[in-house]
Amino acid sequence: MFRKILIANRGEIACRVMRTAKRLGVSTVAVYSEADADALHVEMADEAVRLGPAPAAQSYLAIDKVIAAAVATGAEAIHPGYGFLSENARFAEACAKVGIVFIGPPAAAIQAMGSKSESKLLMERARVPLVPGYHGREQADSHLIHEALRIGFPVLIKASAGGGGKGMRIVRGEGELPAAIEGARREAKAAFGDDRLLIERYLERPRHVEVQVFADAHGNAIYIHDRDCSIQRRHQKVIEEAPAPGLSDETRKRMGEAAVAAAKAVGYVGAGTVEFLYANGAFYFIEMNTRLQVEHPVTEMIAGIDLVEWQLRVASGEELPERQGELQRYGHAMEVRLYAEDPARGFLPATGRIAHLTWPNAANNLRIDSGVRADDVISTHYDPMIAKVIAWGEDRATAAQRLRRALMETEIAGLATNAAFLIDVLGHQAFLNQEIDTGFIERHRADLLPEGGATPERALALAAAFLVLVDGQRAAEAARRSGDPHSPWGLTNGWRLNGEGGSSILLRDSAGRQRHARLTFSGARWDVAIDDGPPLRLTAPRIENGALVAGADHGRLKVTIVQDGSQVTVIERGRATRVARIDVLAEAEAAATSLGQLTSPMPGTVVRVMVEDGARVTRGQPLMVVEAMKMEHTIAAQADGIVKQVRFRAGEAVAEGVELIAFEAES
Ligand code: ADP
Repeated sequence: MFRKILIANRGEIACRVMRTAKRLGVSTVAVYSEADADALHVEMADEAVRLGPAPAAQSYLAIDKVIAAAVATGAEAIHPGYGFLSENARFAEACAKVGIVFIGPPAAAIQAMGSKSESKLLMERARVPLVPGYHGREQADSHLIHEALRIGFPVLIKASAGGGGKGMRIVRGEGELPAAIEGARREAKAAFGDDRLLIERYLERPRHVEVQVFADAHGNAIYIHDRDCSIQRRHQKVIEEAPAPGLSDETRKRMGEAAVAAAKAVGYVGAGTVEFLYANGAFYFIEMNTRLQVEHPVTEMIAGIDLVEWQLRVASGEELPERQGELQRYGHAMEVRLYAEDPARGFLPATGRIAHLTWPNAANNLRIDSGVRADDVISTHYDPMIAKVIAWGEDRATAAQRLRRALMETEIAGLATNAAFLIDVLGHQAFLNQEIDTGFIERHRADLLPEGGATPERALALAAAFLVLVDGQRAAEAARRSGDPHSPWGLTNGWRLNGEGGSSILLRDSAGRQRHARLTFSGARWDVAIDDGPPLRLTAPRIENGALVAGADHGRLKVTIVQDGSQVTVIERGRATRVARIDVLAEAEAAATSLGQLTSPMPGTVVRVMVEDGARVTRGQPLMVVEAMKMEHTIAAQADGIVKQVRFRAGEAVAEGVELIAFEAES
């Protein structure tokens, strides 16, 4: 076993690898960018080396810097985690050159599987079933169009070098092809520096089923069960489980053996995942990921093994700890990826400071892999994942219920997260009935992503009650400090501790609408009404340890409320509602300037401008494309009107909230 390893990654995976290393008595070296100087993975490591500025290209992706850090600290091996350099053959070679072990497959295997197109040629030869498609080298538009027509619509255009669902376009008819090819190329080039494309028949509603494989350098290769990762948004996984539910033992075996054949075809060593689409009992290879997957914990839980320990053992030359026939399988495990993102806004990544974070109590059947803590910042530089929450159960229903409960006990404030969305998916009857496929989220959109994202009035009322209590506390505090206990602080907002009166608070709900909270007090009883709605009745409300506690209709109410500047987050059973207190004067000023503005949803780069100054456009017409976090966002006209001025050209960087286009809506 190694004495010291360097982890060339950040976040939850860096922390997770270090936990196993520590347990095995292996010393750890972290690397970090300037943005991560205070990150959890740096704190956890025995030693840490600074790589450079925040952008990954100058830090986590800088091969020379990572190698230099390993050499300088005397690390014998490098674990690349996932993402960053984990599937970079040049990095694996660079490690070998300086005599450092790369904890992963041989560079040649990475290379062979690195291109979806090339790997398909290999798999064809190894007789692994493929989705019908085109994965050849000829890339002229005319040829791609010819191939798409041969395959038959709908087709899916993918980046050969792709990952993370980037650069994919579904095309349902010939007319859409040229634009889709152009867009996919551009996105592929920006994300991977390689614009080669492949085309596949687009399967409607397949399941994503994948097989964990493991091989050692002594010729042993096994498959460690399967996983289902069908619950996806934008072709990216959000919920994963093991084993894949409802497969016959016969299918599991055939898939497992095909996956091992795929690994053997490229001389694989270490942990890898062979991904298949599964439809009507048949499965088709889509790609192999030559690294540890984000979702590996579900496999660990059902197999009772530590895959990182196996990686370290195999990389240090040991044989696989278990053979195919010795593997065990217990119960069911399920994982959710808790992201800083806004499901109501097309899952747009969110950034900002985590103002508040509490996890459910650790239990035997629950695992939380996180790389952040309260006060940390989720930035645009890296993946917006906050944590993975994983639960185990004797069966699928138990695992789903435990996981759901765990999310309901999780509290996060400061930025938008997908927690409530995940809770809804885990509780959805179709999900519980195993009616899962990659179209699940789209199909159940109405249940999972309510239109307009209406803010529950209850949350607004609780926020208002909380703010009135905080105002009261502040005023009382000020009065105490001023030494005048009789100062008329209670009169400033109409609130009396015990008496009649009223108060009013202006709030902005999550949809940006202004809402008016009216409070009336009568003894210990508060009635809080939003606009003209029915009041929420609270008895003797007070703040205890950051929670609003009160008597309510059905007994005691206790809700965590976090205030961060003007932002107020109400968290009830894992669902956070964010509202803002309105400063009336500042709002009036802002309103005067914001009419007809088209602003950038996040920091990014303008990649395309489709209109010129003076253009007359119609509502919904795309005007500009901004790329942020390697995804393209189209800025469209909100109304019919005239483009007064295009403020940025393609290639220019834009900050969040800046005006992209001066626009005048037609009245
Ligand atoms: P990436 O490497 O970008 O993650 P994959 O090839 O692994 O891309 O595919 C990601 C997801 O996209 C799959 O899990 C599936 O949901 C969807 N997908 C990929 N290929 C097809 C296809 N031919 N038909 C339907 N869906 C597909």
